[in-house]
Amino acid sequence: GIVDFNGGSYFFYHNGALPGGGGFTRSVAVEKFTYNADGTIPTMNMTTAGAPQVGTLSPYSRQEAETIAWETGVETEPSSEGGRNVGWIENGDWIKVKGVAFGASPGAVSFTARVASAASGGRIELRLGGTSGTLVGTCNVSGTGGWQNWVNVSCPVNGVTGTHDLYLRFAGGSGYLFNVNWWQFAA
Ligand code: MG
Repeated sequence: GIVDFNGGSYFFYHNGALPGGGGFTRSVAVEKFTYNADGTIPTMNMTTAGAPQVGTLSPYSRQEAETIAWETGVETEPSSEGGRNVGWIENGDWIKVKGVAFGASPGAVSFTARVASAASGGRIELRLGGTSGTLVGTCNVSGTGGWQNWVNVSCPVNGVTGTHDLYLRFAGGSGYLFNVNWWQFAA
């Protein structure tokens, strides 16, 4: 399918290029393109980089946990609170959120996440630039009595400024740790 957005044209398709991918295990891909002068669609090549980011993301608005540029190990499912949540989180799994604009000093000083866990929880490490990038905050998650029993957890963040790729790195014991519905920083 083709979507025209903010003056750009984007071609969405799917392929089996990810590890384990194939005819019945496809993933979504997107390329930015420009129509030919006569209005026809140009030949496009598949890339692994995809389209450039349209704009930055505000960490000070509520962002769905399923806002994901890249991830390892997680999946999404319908949430009892509406929309979807991220689940099947295990120790070492992570989510990359691209181009998060924290702004000028003093920047982000706290982080809140909407979480649920029928197990004993774990923690969310907030890292910049990579899964082992600078740790700017750690949020502890306890058991909530159910995978859809949602509570807010908050933790301090040490004044992040500027624009970064944000990594939510999940840690804890064995098995599934907790689910995340949404997150938000406070300035
Ligand atoms: Mg959600």
